[in-house]
Formats: sequence, C-alpha cells, structure tokens
Amino acid sequence: MEVEEQSIEQFKGQSRLPKFAVPKRYDLALKPDLSACTFSGAVQIELSIIQSTKFLVLNALELVVDQVSFTNSHNQKFVPSDVVFDSEDEILILVFDKALGLEDGVLWISFSGVLNEHMRGFYKGTYMDGGVKKNMAVTQFEAVDARRCFPCWDEPALKATFKITMDVPSELTALSNMPVLHEKLNGQIKTVYFEESPSMSTYLVAVVVGLFDYIEDSTADGIKVRAYCAVGETDKGRFALSVAVKSLDLFKKYFSMPYPLPKLDMVAVPDFAGGAMENYGLIVYRETDMLLDIHSAAVNKQRLVIVTTHEVAHQWFGNLVTMEWWTYLWLNEAFATWISYLATDSLFPEWEIWTQFLDETAEGLQMDSLESSHPIEVEVHHARSILEVFDAISYEKGSAIIRMLMDYLGDDVFQKSLSSYMKNYACKNTKTEDLWGVLSEESGVQVNALMDTWTKKKGYPVISVKYEDCNLEFEQSQFVYSNMHSDDCWIVPISLSLGSCNKSKNFLLETKHCKLDISGLYQSSDGNSSSFEKNQEKLSENFWVKLNIGQTGFYRVKYDHKLTAQLKKAIEDNCLSASDRFGILDDMYALCEACQVSLSSLLSLMKAYRKEFDYTVLSRLIDICSRVAKISSDALPNLVNDVEQFFIGLLLFSAEKLGWEPIQGENHMGAMTRERVLMGLVNLGHSRTIDEAMKRFQAYVSDRNTPLLPVDCRRAVFRAVMRNTNTCNRNGFESLLTIYKEAQSVQEKSRVLRCLASCPEPDIVLEVLNFTLSDEVRGQDVIYVLREISLEGRETAWTWLKENWDLIIAKCGDDMLLHYFIRNIVTPFSSHEKADEVEAFFATRETASFAMNLKQSIEQVRIKARWIESIKQEESLEELVRGLACIG
Ligand SMILES: [Zn+2]
Repeated sequence: MEVEEQSIEQFKGQSRLPKFAVPKRYDLALKPDLSACTFSGAVQIELSIIQSTKFLVLNALELVVDQVSFTNSHNQKFVPSDVVFDSEDEILILVFDKALGLEDGVLWISFSGVLNEHMRGFYKGTYMDGGVKKNMAVTQFEAVDARRCFPCWDEPALKATFKITMDVPSELTALSNMPVLHEKLNGQIKTVYFEESPSMSTYLVAVVVGLFDYIEDSTADGIKVRAYCAVGETDKGRFALSVAVKSLDLFKKYFSMPYPLPKLDMVAVPDFAGGAMENYGLIVYRETDMLLDIHSAAVNKQRLVIVTTHEVAHQWFGNLVTMEWWTYLWLNEAFATWISYLATDSLFPEWEIWTQFLDETAEGLQMDSLESSHPIEVEVHHARSILEVFDAISYEKGSAIIRMLMDYLGDDVFQKSLSSYMKNYACKNTKTEDLWGVLSEESGVQVNALMDTWTKKKGYPVISVKYEDCNLEFEQSQFVYSNMHSDDCWIVPISLSLGSCNKSKNFLLETKHCKLDISGLYQSSDGNSSSFEKNQEKLSENFWVKLNIGQTGFYRVKYDHKLTAQLKKAIEDNCLSASDRFGILDDMYALCEACQVSLSSLLSLMKAYRKEFDYTVLSRLIDICSRVAKISSDALPNLVNDVEQFFIGLLLFSAEKLGWEPIQGENHMGAMTRERVLMGLVNLGHSRTIDEAMKRFQAYVSDRNTPLLPVDCRRAVFRAVMRNTNTCNRNGFESLLTIYKEAQSVQEKSRVLRCLASCPEPDIVLEVLNFTLSDEVRGQDVIYVLREISLEGRETAWTWLKENWDLIIAKCGDDMLLHYFIRNIVTPFSSHEKADEVEAFFATRETASFAMNLKQSIEQVRIKARWIESIKQEESLEELVRGLACIG
C-alpha cells in the first residue's frame, strides 16, 4: 500500500492493531493520587517500525494524553500533527506529517486518568485503617484494560519488557511484577524503582499500592514468596503461602522448567471483580480466595487451594507461554483449571479431587448443550466481548477435553509433551496447533485430527447404546437441549466396562454408527468362546454395561431401557465407582431436561441413590433435586410437595449418618458433605432440619463461640433462618444483618450475603436487593446475593433489575459483574412469555459486553418452557410421584 493512501478510517472497526510498529520495551512511570482518585504517568516505548508509516496506532481508553513525541535512532524528534482518540475501537492514532522510516525509535507519551470504581484498568479500592476508610490503588488488566492505565500495544502477542517506576505516599507499600530495585524518599512521597521484567504481555502487568503486612517463605531453589494481607492479618495468609510454595516446586518439576521470575508475591485486596489474577510475579486475589481463618469452612479451604494452584500454574501456562490471541484463551484457562486439580490431588490426596473434577465437566457439558454455546476456539471481533469468553467453555469444557486427551495418550507422554512445549515456546506465543504438534510428536498420534472436532466447533455428542444379540450398537449425535440437531460427528474415545466379568474395552468411535460384538469379551481364560452363550442366562442377572468409565470422556450416554434397568440395579448393589454413579445420574438428568427421557424415568433412577454417601455424587444429586423441585413447582404445582418428600427421603440416610457436629477424627470430605446435605434438606423444606437449625442459630446469636454451630453447618443454618423470615417475623433476618456488619472474617460476611435473598417473601427479597446496591455491600460482593435468589422472589428481582438498570451499571460497571445480574435474574424463569419480555427489555439497550450471556440465559428459559410442556403430558407421573413420596 502506498503511504499516501493511508487514512484514519482504515483503522476503525478492526479487531487487531495494524502492524506498522512493534514495541520492545516499556519504561513506565505512574503516580497515583489516592485522595483525588486520579493518576498521572509517562511511558517511553522502544519500538521497531516494521512498515513505513505516517501513523502509529496503539490502544488507549479513558486517558487524557498530554504530550507525545517520537525520537528515531538518529535522535531526530517527530511530534504528531494530530492525536486522535477513537473510544469505540479503544485506539489512539498518532498522525505524523512525514512517514516514519524502517528503524527503531522511542515513543514518549505523558498522560493522566481517573482511578475508576469498577475494578478494571487502574482502579480505586478501599480499606479500613483504625476505623477510617482509606483508598488504595490496584490494577486488573486482563483482558483488555492495560489501555485504561497507559497507552500500549495491548495484545497478548506483542510482548515486551517492562521497567516500572512509581511515586507513592511514603507510608504505603507499592508492589509490581518484579522486585524493588531501590527506593528514593522525597518528603511525603517515595519513588519506587522496580527491576526490569522479562518479555511479557501487557495484560499481565500489575501494580498495587496500599497498606499491607506480609509474611515470607521460599521454595527449595530459593524463590522468595510473600503473602501480603491487611495490617495485622498475615496469619490468615499463611495457608495460601504454603500452598503457593509447594505448587511452585511441584510445577517446576512437572514442566521441567524453573519458575521464570526472581520472586512471587500474592496480595489479597478488598475490591476485586474476579477470584484472582495471575499477573506475572504478582497474583492479586479477592480476599475470600486467599485468606483462611477460624470462620473458613472446608469448602472455602478447598477453593483457596484450587485458586492458588490455578494462578501459580499460569506463571508457566499463560505467562511464560502465552496464547497468540484471545481465540486461544483456552490454552491459558483450560490448562490452568486442569492442572490445578492435578496439583491439588498431589497436595491433598484425601480430597478425592478428581471425582470432584466432574463438577467442572458437568458445567462444561451443561453450557455446551445450548444452541448459543460457542466453540472452544472462538473468533473475537471486539475488545469488549472478550470477557464473555472467560466462561464454562474455555475453563470447564476445555479442561475436560484435556483430561480426555491425557487419558487417551497416557500420563507420561502427556507430561513429557508439556515440558517440551514449555521449552520450545518459553517467552513466546502459541496457537492450539502448536500444542497439538508437540503432543503428536511425543505420542505418535495425529492429535490435531483427533481434537479438531472438540475445539473448532461447538457442542459434543450423546452416544446412544443398545444391546441386542450379544452386540452393542452405538450411534452418535449432537446433544442439545432444544430439538435442533446437526449431523456432525466427533472422534470419540469410548471406554466401556462390562459388569459381572470385570472386562473393559477402549476404542475410537469415528463414524455415526458402529456395532461391537461383546461375546468375545466373555471368553473364559481357556479360550472357550461359547461360555458367553452357555452362561447367558446366569450372566444376565448381574450383567451391565457402563460407557465412559470414570467419566473421563466429554460426552453423554443414552442407554436403552434394558441397559438402564441393569445399571440401576448395579447402583443399588454398589457395583459402580462414584464417578460412574455421577455420570449415569448427570446424563439422565440432562436427557430429561432435553425431553429425551421422561421425568418418571429420572425419578425412578434417583431412587437408586438412597444410600449414596459420596460427596460429589450426593452434591450432584442434591443439585438435581433442587432443579427438579423448581421445575415441578411450575409444571406440577399439585405434586411439588410429594416430589420434595421423595427427595427428602433420598437425603435422610446421609443426614442421619452425618449429624450436626463433626464426628471425632472426621476428614475434610465429611465436613463438606455435611454442609451440602444440610443445605439440601433446608432447601427442600425439611421441617426437622429447619427446626434444629433455628435452635442452633439462637445459640449462635447469644454466643458467637458456641460449639452448637460449627462453621461447616453455618451456611445451611443461615439459609434456614431466611427461609423462615417474613415481613412479620424479621428477627432472624435482622440478626444476620448484625452478624454481617460485625464480622471480621470475609468468609463469614460472604456466607451471610449468600443466604439473604433466599427468603420466600418477595418484599424481603426486594429489601435485600436494595441493600445490595447500598454502600454497605462492596461491588465485588453483589454476586453472592444474586446467586441465591429464591424462586418466589424471581419476579421481584426482575422488576427490580429493570427499574435499577442504570444504578446497577453505575455501581458495577458495564462488564464482568453484569453477567451475574443477567444470568441469575433471567434464568429462573420458565415461560416463553417471560423470555419474550426479557428480549424486549434489552432490545433498546446497550448489550455489547454481555450479549452472549443474555442469549444463553433466554435460551435456558425457553428450554424450561419446553420441558414443562413435556412434563405436563406425561401419563402416570402422578401415581409414580405419590408412591415415591410415601416410601420417602
Ligand atoms: Zn485462570
């Protein structure tokens, strides 16, 4: 292209920056003013001009540019004749009169901005210091908000080194990716000079300025690790610190690659939109995900370990080797998710964490059953839609297909490949095929051919299996909740296990149909092939077939009637592993929601889980009970009590075994299971549990140290209090608000918030929602309230959302937190009328940052509407439910 033909218009509406220049090094100085909530800064960017140009185009947003100049390698200075901001495309266009030649130079920009209140870019947080509320400053750049802090080439592939300097109040701590080189005191202000970083992406740059104490430890090879906490609270960071140190050692060994930086800091901040952020060398956490104290339940402790190992893993997977573009985000998130389980299993083998991983798989399957799902590798057209891709497809489906692939290739080959991948691509950027290349080389398997169907298109298969004349017949088709099917085929690693002879078989299903003669599997050791037929009658008693052994595959299975009945018996006879029991239940539930099997069949299967005691299976069972109870209240209002009675009956076995107080010598899983089962019973309205909960709550209100309310029971008890609250009886509600206000523990505070909106009385739900938008609740914490709005309060919540939409955006910003409002307030509905109403409301509003979330939420409403119609047509359901309720 001729230089003269270039015009500003060509840069608009592009998803990526033009490649005229590439940055090599940033020298960035920042000076936040914490009382005025503003900042000023200057950046010198060393560039290589790789295409002669009159324009330099980089990213900037909500910044005011003061001065700009470009100095070339001959020390000639060029000042742009025009500086154009395009806030729609989030770019800054510098127009020069004369074309810049192919050479290196330094771009210098001075600028200023506002420390915003929306937990993105360079933002303001608050903390309490001796009863006084004070300001701090934090950054959160992923995905595309570095540009809100300083002008930069804000794309993951444009790696550069960073030399950061900060002017901060002398009494505060300033943290960044690298260690402090030196500090210079100048009255009330100190200048902190950080060491220069290795080459890294802009989204991983970070600074934090605030008042902290820290504790320190080191890894076996001397990497210093620190946990920064609020003053006087460092004890709460001790557990996370030990997990981080252990995981650094573990990943170094696993990847055969040392941790790339001289230090790792972790800091807990009181205002943080996500869970944690893996900034290179400086992990920033939401407090609940890093701090542990006597008010932390087993479930909090486990989440802390998962989050910490995830963020530490990113230091390699993401920070050292980075995705080339957001399309390959899954390379970061799916791997960090998968390997956080691997690390947690190694640190806490008694947690049975790989069984719990099935919750991740289930979430991925659930979202990928929607028409409005997306492929793992997703095209990204606009910066503001990138955050929507941080979802169950990138994390959960991604990590589940990695597990499936590892299971197929073998652990050793997989680990060897990952360490070659780290070596080959250290400090570089990759696409999915780069990883497949390394895996193919190590394993000899054509990994891209195998995996393309899983990453390049949305959806996954359901395998229908029939048994006839010693043959198993398989058929694959896409699983979707709606009745829209594609003819797509996947390459599916099938594993199957045959009951009564302890035999298993693995094969790849590559076509739509396939048949497998299983009589050979019954051959006796002396090679007598007729034993199957001879013993067929005897075998049929204990005969069962289970596909997807251990649920390592990302697909569902639909068994024919006979096979289902045999599996049900195998569950009752305790012949199957917890993972397999989980899979059978989860698949049956999904098939039911998709109207492919009846509710009667699902309920009959659930009956087989009466003696269930495994945490993960029970947890899934309870979740399904809650979903079915909700759909029943819309589809079968006359039967909902009976449905609930039946479900209560399913949970009583484990509830009686567990009791209310920790059993002597009880492990982590016991505490987790008790919390879950009690919550389940409270939600189902089990009066004995609720009465007991109310008694124990009174004891807790009088004495916060009472042994009658162990921390792992508190969530259920708080929930029971709110289920018992109404406008005439508000005492429990008021007591909970007092507990919230007085609590020093972030875990206790979030526990209260989680239960408040579960009240059945709409007026109280409204009061709670308004409270959520008040100054008493931090913006980051609204998600806790929204997640658990009662079914009775859904209409109130929707009306409230419509009336307060502008206020919500003012408090929570227009991106990530909004996803929670949409999902949690829209999805509880179950009618086409409501879906239409939601569509109409948003038709006239700006939805760019949550368009996909909105579409998925509305689709879920329509799926339920269709499900209700199907349930209403089921004959003999009433008879079945009444029968099940009696035996409950
Ligand atoms: Zn992550």
